[in-house]
Amino acid sequence: MVAVPDITLNNGVTIPQLGFGVYQVPPKETAAAVRTALDIGYRHIDTAEMYRNEAEVGRAIHESGIDPAEIFVTSKLNNGFHAYDAALSAFEDTMTRLGLPRLDLFLIHWPLPTVSDYTETWRALEKLYQDGRVRAIGVSNFQIAHLRKLHAETEIPPAVNQIELHPYLTQEPLRAFDEEHGIATEAWSPIAQGAVLSDPTVIEMASRYDRTAAQVVLRWHIQLGNIVFPKSVTPARVKENFEIFDFELTDADVSLISGLNKDARTGPDPDTFDYLAT
Ligand code: NAD
Repeated sequence: MVAVPDITLNNGVTIPQLGFGVYQVPPKETAAAVRTALDIGYRHIDTAEMYRNEAEVGRAIHESGIDPAEIFVTSKLNNGFHAYDAALSAFEDTMTRLGLPRLDLFLIHWPLPTVSDYTETWRALEKLYQDGRVRAIGVSNFQIAHLRKLHAETEIPPAVNQIELHPYLTQEPLRAFDEEHGIATEAWSPIAQGAVLSDPTVIEMASRYDRTAAQVVLRWHIQLGNIVFPKSVTPARVKENFEIFDFELTDADVSLISGLNKDARTGPDPDTFDYLAT
């Protein structure tokens, strides 16, 4: 089995560059899906309070027989808990559900700039980090302006920024900002929930490399340095998505995929997203 490379975060903690995402995996199917991923070799799981399957992720980890310390687990603070005390207690609830002593990575799920003050929320995450409850803290769906405000008004820089990123939304300026500031970029919906798999350029490339369209797109992410965690509950696809470390795209083909960008989001705009209004 070819090893998944690690990315070193700005505090020295390492994270496997490929993980398994469990958004929209129903709780009843989550434990089996996570077990399949662990059996295939995944050692990084991306969940969130919002996904309602943290307990099942924790159960799969405990039942796998793998030392939990070998599995990198990310969870995220849900939108209703941005106040300082609410964030601290939501974190404890997440840990109870996961059944883990310490979390690897905790993220603010959305910045919600029109609803609350994410710097207050970030101070709660800083406290969890300083208390040793979590090995790294980061943000999700933060735009450049949100990151600048955090840098100006808080102490600990985020270790990661998890953003929507795929060939139809390449996020060049935000990725460059992350890189300049030592923030690792994580790509959510790395295959745009399947939308990029029927792109003619991707299909042509897949046939040229004798790979699937999903493998070509995931490989593009890997070569850009993005951290990815595609989601699937189909074991053959989970395996296929893992087998991307034994081939390489040429620089020209990486550029060709990057050129598919059309700034098209599948999810909400982080500047205006207001969960109370949805
Ligand atoms: P994705 O891009 O991973 O696509 C998932 C879809 O693609 C599923 O319908 C699946 O059946 C299909 N698929 C997966 N592998 C395939 C393959 N090899 N061949 C054909 N089809 C395949 O989308 P996603 O689930 O939205 O994103 C991945 C993860 O990112 C989530 O599970 C979650 O962990 C994270 N996420 C985070 C946020 C956030 O706001 N932070 C938002 C969405 C997702």
